[in-house]
Amino acid sequence: MSNLRDVGESGADAFAALDDFIEPARPAPKRTRQAQVRWGSRVVTIGGAAHVRVQSMTNTDTVDVIGTAIQVKELAMAGSELVRITVNTPEAAAAVPHIRDQLDRMGIDVPLIGDFHYNGHRLLSEHPACAEALSKYRINPGNVGKGDKHDRQFAQMIEIAAKHDKAVRIGVNWGSLDAELLTQMMDDNAKLTEPHAPQQIMYRALITSAISSAKRAEAFGLNGDQIILSCKMSGVQDLVSVYRALARRCDYALHLGLTEAGMGTKGTVASATALALLLQDGIGDTIRVSLTPQPGEARTQEVVIALEILQSLGLRSFNPSVTACPGCGRTTSTTFQELAKQIDDHLRAQMPVWRARYPGVEKMKVAVMGCIVNGPGESKHADIGISLPGTGEAPAAPVFIDGEKALTLRGDNIAAEFHALVERYIEKRYGAATASVG
Ligand code: SF4
Repeated sequence: MSNLRDVGESGADAFAALDDFIEPARPAPKRTRQAQVRWGSRVVTIGGAAHVRVQSMTNTDTVDVIGTAIQVKELAMAGSELVRITVNTPEAAAAVPHIRDQLDRMGIDVPLIGDFHYNGHRLLSEHPACAEALSKYRINPGNVGKGDKHDRQFAQMIEIAAKHDKAVRIGVNWGSLDAELLTQMMDDNAKLTEPHAPQQIMYRALITSAISSAKRAEAFGLNGDQIILSCKMSGVQDLVSVYRALARRCDYALHLGLTEAGMGTKGTVASATALALLLQDGIGDTIRVSLTPQPGEARTQEVVIALEILQSLGLRSFNPSVTACPGCGRTTSTTFQELAKQIDDHLRAQMPVWRARYPGVEKMKVAVMGCIVNGPGESKHADIGISLPGTGEAPAAPVFIDGEKALTLRGDNIAAEFHALVERYIEKRYGAATASVG
């Protein structure tokens, strides 16, 4: 007894000794400049106080105009605010304006980004319609030519970007880091009395390549606000180290992504871990999840994950969230798993229509819980929630609406009835917003 009292008292004392206010965790504010990526009347801002933007990349052959336009549309419909396409050959460059036209005909105004390596200076110069149809160029300073060609070809691309008022991502990647720069930095390091570890030189070379290229781009006439930087690596701790250092050294908008993240669970978890650590620090203005699709998996999966990362951090809201318990020995049937999935699938499928019809619905919280232990409590925290009966409990499922128990569902039709209740709730709560606004 005395032990219990001691624990209670020491707990209270310990708490009282702490600062009274527990600071809620939230991402730090971003402090970068703001770029504008435009197509027609659509303007996607990147950096500064703008939302962290989601982007993706096609994996179709760009020469296949229809196939590429369809995939761009799918990515945009999934929530990608910018879509990058490979521009690697004269045929691909020639296809770009047709892809743009096709998208415009389909009513898709998502800005297109051209991904250039090795021959971008030629493609942009020889295909002005391509240069115009793209809203942003990605230039890899490690792949713009060697020796004296490097600066000349880089300048050529930058001047075209400046002429067309396009944003540019200077995208450094440790797999294609400027070899001359890295060699020079390694040689200089070797001459030091106490040389730094090779990893340090790699980090420094990535950052130096990005920032010095950005400064050169400004010197060649590009507005610094229109420059976005990235320094991609495939290791989580490497990426975090480099971006923290990069963010301290410049105020250009930053594109964030773990390169070659991999497939499935590994790629998803690694990307989410790396991006979350940096976004929480206020680092990152636009993100891409570089997921290798598993056989049969939709390319849009990388967009779905990017949206979930931002929503999980509370940075943006895209879809209503469904809180579902993991289930345990108290749930011997799969009823609650099925219901949670059905509700989640239904909400996501409806969102393209609901987003316009029911403003605010993307912030709705739905709970689908497996038993009485946490079911009523979690359901009360949601806008609408259901606590299904666990093994051995009476076959009744209380439904909570806006924190209050509203009714109890019974029988074999609980799933369909809860589904209808969610629909009615959305209509009543968010439909009214439309009516009052309209
Ligand atoms: S709410 Fe119930 S069923 Fe779900 S995990 Fe907790 S104890 Fe298990």
